[in-house]
Amino acid sequence: MTRSNENFENFSMDGEQPYKIQNDYHQRAVGFLRQALEFDEQSNNKEMAILLYKQGIRELEKAVNLNVDPKDNRAVDLHTKMRKNLAMARERVHVLQDLLRKENAIPAKAQAVPPKPRHIPTKAQHPTPPHKIYSPPPIERKEVSSKLNDNAAAAQNKRPVLKLPNVEKKELPSKSDDDAAAVQNKQSLLNLPNVEKQLISYILDEVIVNKPNVKFTDIGGQERAKRALEEAVILPVLRPEMFTGLRAPVRGILLFGPPGNGKTMLAKAVASEAKARFFNITASSLTSKYVGEGEKLVRTLFAAARELQPSIIFIDEVDSLLTERKESEHDAMRRLKTEFFIQFDGVQTNSDDRILVLAATNRPFELDDAALRRFPRRIYIQLPDSRTRKHLLKHLLSKQEHSLTSSDFEWIANETHNYSGSDLTALAKDAAMGPVRELRVDQLKELSVSRIRPISRQDFIQALRKIRPSVSPSTLEKYITWDRQFGDGSS
Ligand code: ATP
Ligand code: MG
Repeated sequence: MTRSNENFENFSMDGEQPYKIQNDYHQRAVGFLRQALEFDEQSNNKEMAILLYKQGIRELEKAVNLNVDPKDNRAVDLHTKMRKNLAMARERVHVLQDLLRKENAIPAKAQAVPPKPRHIPTKAQHPTPPHKIYSPPPIERKEVSSKLNDNAAAAQNKRPVLKLPNVEKKELPSKSDDDAAAVQNKQSLLNLPNVEKQLISYILDEVIVNKPNVKFTDIGGQERAKRALEEAVILPVLRPEMFTGLRAPVRGILLFGPPGNGKTMLAKAVASEAKARFFNITASSLTSKYVGEGEKLVRTLFAAARELQPSIIFIDEVDSLLTERKESEHDAMRRLKTEFFIQFDGVQTNSDDRILVLAATNRPFELDDAALRRFPRRIYIQLPDSRTRKHLLKHLLSKQEHSLTSSDFEWIANETHNYSGSDLTALAKDAAMGPVRELRVDQLKELSVSRIRPISRQDFIQALRKIRPSVSPSTLEKYITWDRQFGDGSS
């Protein structure tokens, strides 16, 4: 249902800006590591710290696996820096895991089981330098290393707890203990009392998102939607004291509209600009859980959001969770939906909770009344108008050699009525291939990139023949009708 779309960053980066890609991973890693440090030091919550360190480690692993141009000094320096950070973070995880093991007083048998090897690309298995002394670059020295080296402070012997009120509080064995059990009997893992821990880990590992790399300014058009989101999400989090009583922010916002126009992008921009913890889950990942697991995941998700508030829970493709009840609907599905409503209502009624549920769908017509009621703000994310199309095209081509004049852009914008944001991306990509397609294979092999001719209006004429709007006028009409009936008129 959700198309696989490319964003502008990817479009402009195709093999051209390895340093930028490397640096993006690095920035994300630093974000995770900083959060990990907060938990490590300030709350002494080792479990959370470990999970966040691991997320940082994963980003660093992706980065150090990239090929680095040895002539690019910045990239080489960053690579070295990241390898050091990686070693340091892994080291810290080991220290924390050891501490946890001791605190939990795991039986000797379980401790003897070696931890499960992580799924790290082979190259990343090796780069950890043998030395353990970390001498980091300036940012990390301040933000990461000095705190990390201060292990003693973080190693107080308190039992770390992730306080989740709705989750059964049971003694939780360590991960290696779980792994041991999993090896012995995978099935029994599901029946273990610590199953919630798996869910917590899942949420912390897979659902909490660090600041994504999308800003509101990256999104063309959608001005009203941006303003509505700012008002409902960003300002109340920044100035909570101003938004109380009648000004209390809404707790449920639905973004709806045809595919490929920035719903997911807007949610990511909210995540990166709001100072709130961002939980990102697709409804299909909830519904695909084993019977009963989805419900528990929903409970844990809301409990974690409550614990870490201010929080935003973003549910993409919400239609697959909250479609109208059908006779044939599976019992488990019904229970999952009910659990979601119970949790959601809890958020709406507790005025102290600062949790927003943000959802997106390209099939709003399938949502039932019960679902709609919970999303009082419904924002139509529509197809870009001609002005926005022009802006998007300019943005798409900004990092490419081209010979298009302002009136060419105007012309393309007029020719692309009913094109979605992702259709425009596809169009620009196709046009960008024009200059390459006319080369013979032997020329392609030898010609330097700088000698490829600029993208021209003619390339767009060709591309327009192939890339057509993906949303039909009749489908569009359905969205407009639905917006009139249920939308909040903000778009
Ligand atoms: P779906 O309903 O299929 O999930 P969506 O509305 O969530 O679609 P996105 O995934 O946010 O769509 O956007 C798809 C891609 O289209 C983006 O990655 C981006 O490249 C491009 N795009 C769409 N709309 C915009 C926009 N307003 N500004 C910039 N890029 C856009
Ligand atoms: Mg989407």
